[in-house]
Amino acid sequence: MFRNTLKKMNTSLKDVVNYTLDIHGEIHDMNRYIGKKLIIKWSGNVVCSCEKVMTSFYRNSGYCYKCYWESPLASQSIFKPELCTAHLGIEERDLDWEKEFQLTPHYVYLANSSGIKVGITRGTQGVIRWMDQGASQAILLAEVPNRRFSGDIEVSLKRFVADITNWRKMLSGSPDKVDLVKMKEELSVHVPDELKQYILPDNTVTEINYPVTKYPVKIKSVKLEKYPTIEGVLLGIKGQYLLLDNDRVFNVRSHEGFISEFSVQETIQKTLF
Ligand SMILES: [Zn+2]
Repeated sequence: MFRNTLKKMNTSLKDVVNYTLDIHGEIHDMNRYIGKKLIIKWSGNVVCSCEKVMTSFYRNSGYCYKCYWESPLASQSIFKPELCTAHLGIEERDLDWEKEFQLTPHYVYLANSSGIKVGITRGTQGVIRWMDQGASQAILLAEVPNRRFSGDIEVSLKRFVADITNWRKMLSGSPDKVDLVKMKEELSVHVPDELKQYILPDNTVTEINYPVTKYPVKIKSVKLEKYPTIEGVLLGIKGQYLLLDNDRVFNVRSHEGFISEFSVQETIQKTLF
């Protein structure tokens, strides 16, 4: 069944981000489809990562009933890393899983997607996370040995900067450039003293460009639950959003698990730019 479900696009950092979508056993180079018409048709079913069909009530969580209540992937500390306890040997739902997931290097970063935000990421996932969020610039702030410490730093910095992306603003254009090195210096002062040792001296700023030919003006987010067939000319891709004609945007990630047909009309549309 996973063969035919939507999954978040894979990204690689090049001059502009390159996006691929894996569906129906085929890897689609999405950048190549810009200017072409995409058709996404939903079957009416959504499956959880455990392969069970989800009832509509639990769809927004991304999990079926059983996983929502039992899986360590859906536990509270996934959404609130400051609640992680595996480093103290305390179980939330499955200590072995939690140890493996939490007791690895984590990073705290600053990113500029719709203004400055603070976030955390595991291991080497940083650049991928920044591309998924549609960030235009990012810098690592600290490297810590477990997820809890990254959550603690994030909480201390949330008083000064956002911890979520304003997706409407992110999709409305490129944000103004920000001096992230200076922001990092200013915010580092507010990291709790016992965690200051983890602040990274390296101040490399990653710059990210997206394949967008035209940004939407009055953004309209389209969802398969409301429109089971979505057709439109692809004008660009940013974060995990497909930018379609008529100011429509489609969040691929929020449709993970939707069993769908995906196709592309190869005739090149010349007029809509
Ligand atoms: Zn499940």
